Amino acid sequence: MRMLLAGNWKMNGVRASLAEIRALKRGLTDEPPRADILICPPATLIAEAAKAAEGGPVAIGGQDCHAQASGAFTGDLSAEMLRDAGATAVILGHSERRQHHGETDEMVAAKVAAARRAGLMAILCIGETEQQRDQGRALPVVLQQLRSSMPAELSVSDVVIAYEPIWAIGTGKTPRAADIAQMHQAIRGGILERFGPDGAAVRILYGGSVKPDNAAEILAIAEVDGALVGGASLKAADFLAIIRAAPRR
Ligand code: PEP
Repeated sequence: MRMLLAGNWKMNGVRASLAEIRALKRGLTDEPPRADILICPPATLIAEAAKAAEGGPVAIGGQDCHAQASGAFTGDLSAEMLRDAGATAVILGHSERRQHHGETDEMVAAKVAAARRAGLMAILCIGETEQQRDQGRALPVVLQQLRSSMPAELSVSDVVIAYEPIWAIGTGKTPRAADIAQMHQAIRGGILERFGPDGAAVRILYGGSVKPDNAAEILAIAEVDGALVGGASLKAADFLAIIRAAPRR
């Protein structure tokens, strides 16, 4: 299946950073990407980023949304608002949101339902802590998160899963290829359990310290259908190098 390479800018980027999106678009003009490309800038930049990306292969997404469509929720943004600003996707349940904003699986499931309602593709993030991995609990923890972060109503075209071991995010550490393969196979099993054979079409991304120098190895692993990239998505040159490492599938 066609891979997805998604960049998560987190709380980084001001209007000057739109130059990176323009550079990315230019870099992909002569060399159409082998993967779908998405950049998720801070919400303040979504509308301008969507304008900058227009006519090229780079799609724009959000990093979070509220479960409700509108209302008295000061400071929050709805999936519909992201869509209106030009987003086509939204990252949900990122470990930084789970950790710093107390997001539970139940809350994440409600947000995934909101993304579906608004017509946004949800990138649903799951992943274990270092302690859970050391205790040999990574597989059951991640599978439980997967099951309980998906809302009751969901189609395979609504969602992409991002497996992000928390200890690998922003640390420069990555799991062994065999551990990534084992986890992605288990997640595929969980998706097939939920959707039946149609679940084969759901992309499972790996995230956690993907860089230009390890992207080819990680993207070659079975059941890795793309990557969610933090730090290395901030500079067009780095992200282009990762995009070029994507195998044709
Ligand atoms: C992320 O934030 O989803 C991420 C994977 O970050 P990094 O690539 O910087 O580890």
